[in-house]
Amino acid sequence: MSLFDRAELAPADPILGLTEAFNADARPEKVNLGVGVYLGEDGKLPLMASVREAEERLVAQRKPKSYLGIDGMPAFREAVRGLIFGTEAQVLADARVATVQSLGGTGALKVGADLLHQLDPEATVLISDPSWENHRALFTRAGFKVEAYRYYDPEAKGIDFDGLLEDLRAAEPGTIVVLHACCHNPTGYDLSLEQWDQIVAVLDERGLVPFLDMAYQGFGFGIAEDGAVVAKFVASGQDFLLSTSYSKSFSLYGERIGSLSVVLGSADSAKRVLSQLKITIRTNYSNPPTLGAALVATVLTDPDLRASWETELGGMRSRIKELRQVLVDGLAARGIQDMGFIAGQLGMFSYSGLTKDQMVALRTEHAVYGLDSGRMCVAALNTGNLDRVAGAIASVRS
Ligand code: PMP
Repeated sequence: MSLFDRAELAPADPILGLTEAFNADARPEKVNLGVGVYLGEDGKLPLMASVREAEERLVAQRKPKSYLGIDGMPAFREAVRGLIFGTEAQVLADARVATVQSLGGTGALKVGADLLHQLDPEATVLISDPSWENHRALFTRAGFKVEAYRYYDPEAKGIDFDGLLEDLRAAEPGTIVVLHACCHNPTGYDLSLEQWDQIVAVLDERGLVPFLDMAYQGFGFGIAEDGAVVAKFVASGQDFLLSTSYSKSFSLYGERIGSLSVVLGSADSAKRVLSQLKITIRTNYSNPPTLGAALVATVLTDPDLRASWETELGGMRSRIKELRQVLVDGLAARGIQDMGFIAGQLGMFSYSGLTKDQMVALRTEHAVYGLDSGRMCVAALNTGNLDRVAGAIASVRS
């Protein structure tokens, strides 16, 4: 009898499991709209020109591969803090923000969750209904009880704002509330700035603990526009956590690069919190990897590379908008008139409103892979596959 006989076979990750099924599908016309990855017109993952140039410069320097500090590369932290909070932000000058480099957005969420669990193991975590699949699993695994606040209204094809406010008002003080800063995954529906004002006020009044997750800055309306909610939280004066990911906005998925910031009331709190974050990191993976941080820092601090990056990211954003519109037009041309909402959604995903049965039929009959929830990654569409996808959706709808 081995100890490991106790290990049960866990179900495959719903998204990565879908990719395995996609890879095993022999039909050449197959389309994978399951994963959250931006693909170019050629159907391939882009290497952004700014990132390529930054990498060439780094390779030319041929630096030795030392360890980074526990909290990561100082130049990276400095650059992303400027991106997130604004270089002139008073909160940075006041040293009220503790920031660490993280292993992507997921790593930031986990380090933040571990810190929170250490400080208040009894707290409940609220995530949106629905949310990115890993939110529930990650906070559960960190030891929390995880519940959901109302978010998506399938009838209205939008946000159940009254339900959301009601659920936040009913939460116990100290409840941790995970919020998508922009480009909500999976629905594609974001709160308006006026709605954010109300949410920020309720969180503050109720003494809740906001944890903003920003994995898609730049994919909604623009870098500054998508980050606007961060300034609202800072202005409210409440403590909050913020995870960011550069997987999508720099197309650096495999480099595992992100950040976690905790915004606090005083420099002293920030110092204490940073010291705790460092212990969490030290006892998990000691210190983060170098390349992703060096690439992001180089791009953000070099004026030419930064301008090029902003243009490229803007190009990705507007291309996704066009793809959405072409899909809506393609569906309308096939008699599906009630899916125009896809054009107004933000970010990489579309909650299509298709049922599980329809999503299964898309896969089995048409080799078009999306999630059972109806989520499709519109950022994986291109002019070569759009017609097929529109035709397949129209077919399963009829
Ligand atoms: N949060 C959300 C809402 C996401 O969609 C994702 C990525 N799919 C992440 C966090 C994790 O980002 P990363 O891949 O950088 O770990």
